[in-house]
Amino acid sequence: MIPIEEATKIVLDHSKSYGEELVPLSEANGRILRQDLLADRDFPPFTRVTMDGIAIRYNAYANGQRKFTIEGMQAAGSPQRRLNDLDGCLEVMTGAILPENTDTVIRYEDVKIENGTAKLQINEVKKGQNAHLRAFDRKEGEVIVKAGAIISPAEIGVAATVGLSSLKVAKLPTVAIISTGDELVEVNETPEPHQIRTSNVYTIASTLYRWGIRPDKLHIADDMDVTVAKLSDCLEKYDVLILSGGVSKGKFDYIPSALHTLGMKKLFHKVKQRPGKPFWFGESPNGKVIFALPGNPVSAFMCAMRYLRPWIRKSMELEPMDYAHAVLAEDFKFKPDLTYFLQVHTAFDAETGRLMAIPVEGHGSGDLANLVDADAFLELPRGKDKFKKGKVFPLIFYR
Ligand code: AMP
Ligand code: MG
Repeated sequence: MIPIEEATKIVLDHSKSYGEELVPLSEANGRILRQDLLADRDFPPFTRVTMDGIAIRYNAYANGQRKFTIEGMQAAGSPQRRLNDLDGCLEVMTGAILPENTDTVIRYEDVKIENGTAKLQINEVKKGQNAHLRAFDRKEGEVIVKAGAIISPAEIGVAATVGLSSLKVAKLPTVAIISTGDELVEVNETPEPHQIRTSNVYTIASTLYRWGIRPDKLHIADDMDVTVAKLSDCLEKYDVLILSGGVSKGKFDYIPSALHTLGMKKLFHKVKQRPGKPFWFGESPNGKVIFALPGNPVSAFMCAMRYLRPWIRKSMELEPMDYAHAVLAEDFKFKPDLTYFLQVHTAFDAETGRLMAIPVEGHGSGDLANLVDADAFLELPRGKDKFKKGKVFPLIFYR
């Protein structure tokens, strides 16, 4: 049995790179960018009108001009026009290129148009108002998004603007999530009194969708030969196996011995933590990674959040531990010499603005309903049994 620090290090030391691939913009959200996004033109690419109204030459206004003869119209999407009478104006629409010889735009709301003349209704006009100058935001050739960024709708907008319909992103591993246990039935089945529906595969799978990983969901019965055969098959097909259940001391907990039979290297089995003590982690000789999580739903979920998620982040070259911290809101006691991942509900304190972690303990690692009341695990270190209200601890937020 090893402490969580050691387990974390071993897991992260076995992160992998799965290469790169090109994906269309519509599938890029949440993926990790593997190219810089450069401005192919200035941002904006031309001095852009930002209000519907009239464009004038500011000097005319400065010289006392308040009535402007309308020479014509500059619509969005039309090539640049030119103002010929420097004391006149052109009507301009939002998104249009600012006409030559003009530098200032006055909103329709601030003029009265009669008989082809725009008469000013205000007496404060600033030079350059309502015109978004060419290259004001970014210059052509500038890096706007650096490789390594997590792609969000903001990055997708930039990619579209610079003319990229697909993006080079980090390739994702192929993953199988495998439940074990003869008591499990599928979600759409009606369980017998002695059976339960499988929930772990769905919980874990949904933590992976966020990265764009689409795992296959499989099941293995509590039978040694079947376990060996199915795992052998999965080790051929997938980069990562995530198992749940069958790693404790039960008579039908075949996973560790089946993996051993298949020549898998055990990197650790059992971590000084609650929940999730029976966690097994290992690797195949050709670099396939195996997370064999405990079957209890809270344990499996905690291990997915605390180990699998940082492993994915590291494999994607992101900072693995994206921890927040929170203030323990109540005194708390925990005796065993284990790191305790306390389920907490978080809320900002109205006076101090600090993030408070309010314990919502639940009824142990089988109490998956309690995960709904909590929204994070607060990581309480080993080697202490009393935790004082007001102390700050790492927080693993899962919402
Ligand atoms: P095990 O680690 O196989 O002894 O399982 C521990 C507990 O977790 C048992 O009560 C199992 O019924 C439960 N369990 C195992 N796998 C799942 C699963 N996929 N979904 C929900 N509960 C599970
Ligand atoms: Mg079992």
